[in-house]
Amino acid sequence: MPGAELDMEERGSPDGDPARSVEQGSEGPETPIQVVLRVRPMSAAELRRGEQSALHCSGTRTLQVSPPGGGPDVAFRFGAVLDGARTQEDVFRACGVRRLGELALRGFSCTVFTFGQTGSGKTYTLTGPPPQGDGVPVPPSLAGIMQRTFAWLLDRVQHLGAPVTLRASYLEIYNEQVRDLLSLGSPRPLPVRWNKTRGFYVEQLRVVEFRSLETLMDLLQMGLSRRRRSAHTLNQASSRSHALLTLYIGRPTPQQMPPADPGAPPVGGKLCFVDLAGSEKVAATGSRGELMLEANSINRSLLALGHCISLLLDPQRKQSHIPFRDSKLTKLLADSLGGRGVTLMVACVSPSAQCLPETLSTLRYASRAQRVTTRPQAPKSPVAKQPQRLETEMLQLQEENRHLRLQLDQRDPQGPELRGARVAWAQRNLYGMLQEFMLENERLRKEISQLQSSRDLAHDQQRVLSQQVLELERRLCSARTPCQLCPAPGPPCSCLMVPVAPCHALPPLCSCPCCHLCPLCRAPLARWACPRREHHQPQVPDPEAPGGLPLSARPPAWAPPCSPGSAQCPRGRSHSDWTETRVLAEMLTGEEVVPSAPPLPMGPPKMPPVLEGGAGVPNLAQRLEALRLQIGSSLRRGQSQPPTSKCAQSPDGVPPPH
Ligand code: ADP
Ligand code: MG
Repeated sequence: MPGAELDMEERGSPDGDPARSVEQGSEGPETPIQVVLRVRPMSAAELRRGEQSALHCSGTRTLQVSPPGGGPDVAFRFGAVLDGARTQEDVFRACGVRRLGELALRGFSCTVFTFGQTGSGKTYTLTGPPPQGDGVPVPPSLAGIMQRTFAWLLDRVQHLGAPVTLRASYLEIYNEQVRDLLSLGSPRPLPVRWNKTRGFYVEQLRVVEFRSLETLMDLLQMGLSRRRRSAHTLNQASSRSHALLTLYIGRPTPQQMPPADPGAPPVGGKLCFVDLAGSEKVAATGSRGELMLEANSINRSLLALGHCISLLLDPQRKQSHIPFRDSKLTKLLADSLGGRGVTLMVACVSPSAQCLPETLSTLRYASRAQRVTTRPQAPKSPVAKQPQRLETEMLQLQEENRHLRLQLDQRDPQGPELRGARVAWAQRNLYGMLQEFMLENERLRKEISQLQSSRDLAHDQQRVLSQQVLELERRLCSARTPCQLCPAPGPPCSCLMVPVAPCHALPPLCSCPCCHLCPLCRAPLARWACPRREHHQPQVPDPEAPGGLPLSARPPAWAPPCSPGSAQCPRGRSHSDWTETRVLAEMLTGEEVVPSAPPLPMGPPKMPPVLEGGAGVPNLAQRLEALRLQIGSSLRRGQSQPPTSKCAQSPDGVPPPH
């Protein structure tokens, strides 16, 4: 009946073309589910039993049913009625699946599902006769709607001239468990989830990309061979599960953004083929044991589907809650039944009078279903969702950019052309700064090393000074007490003639005249004079000094140092000895040791001073000064008293100072 084909292909949706809604950019008009009826031919067994068909096609869209007990015929009207004389190719052309394919290519979500009693020809209509997926290919003439649609779609894509991404998934719902028919391992139960953007979806479902018809056919065969089938009274190869094969059609455009969820199928159309397991009366099919459990599960999910369709039909209750969550099947068909998809139902019935109650049930069910409406809408890319908002945002950014450029030019009066040179200069300068920092670091390292040396030297000097102060104090104590070891007259007192380095640095401490000689070189210590003596010793007029100059005002007797072996200086001294003595003398006078390096940043208050240098020296110098004062007064006392012993004569004949 070519009229039926023309009728379905040209009529489209009675309430408007859903594709137009995409171009209009608004939600699509209400579109009813398309229902076509397929009546399978009498099987050989039925013919053998002499059964008569209770179904009569009237025209291309009406089916008349004669009740078995007589009475008036009941008429059912569908989008197309295809009797048993129609070939698979006729069904493919008449059912309107190509229109769904076109819509899927334009981004719509489309679903084709078969519905009817078990053994009514659902699987045959979709994929051809059994055996299926057992390595025996279906003859091309008997290939079902799916294979024909695949071939048509691939051919259509080739002629589009635009890049299209094609992917496929295949699952079954068996005993309320979703199983991946394309999984790499054995099928395992997968969860059904929901989110706002995707609606219900199967998590971790394998989605395979394909480019050729052969690959897609292989995927189909793989799924068919894995699908659960069993034999019962009404069907030798009865499907025991609902099977969903989905083709994802992605058509990337320059405006399209990649999907936010990497695991999600690309934004685009999809075409889903659903082969429902048939409802069955357990008594009629003779199912027992596992078969009965499967039948109960199938019937429950079909009941949930029927319930959803009933609620969707009720205009008062359409906006209310639809219990899609009652079964996995209704979850996965929610978008097709009540959402934004385009749906085609192929209702399959058996002509056998024995099956008439179930046939009538299917016909009533299908009649109701074609009154269910959806609002087909192509899934929009994030860019397409809010073009106005994005355009506004872009304009704002452009304005901000212009404003910032203006500000930059105002700050830079020489113009934007110098900006590049400035950047280069800054880069060069940065490099120069880096080099400078490196050099400065090197310099600082050297300074730190010098400062550490100075600090070590200062510590050493401080230690020497401490020892000398202790020694001075010890001698002073001895000087205050009468000398017990050298009663006069007698040999020169040697009790305190402990050599103290450096020679001449220390005045004699014993009050007896013999101790007024240097214990090392035996020079009269009255002639000893520090170059800075005036700062730390009382100004004693030297009777031998020309012009009565004080000792401190005269050039030091030791400068230049006496040569070794000379009569006046029996023990030689090096120049460095004198230098050390002089430095020591300076330090003893409290002269502050100034570090050679610039000051470093202040450390924490409780930290020990790292670079104190001779910080301890002033203290020592004060003590030393006090000692000198005491020694000076002792000397003066000694000079004012006449010699009381032979100690007044020095061993080497040098007269004691007067
Ligand atoms: P269902 O899937 O609805 O349970 P099947 O598709 O398995 O039913 O078909 C049951 C039997 O009927 C199969 O043996 C199949 O070959 C046969 N059959 C169904 N429809 C047709 C048809 N249009 N032409 C010839 N045989 C058919
Ligand atoms: Mg089947």
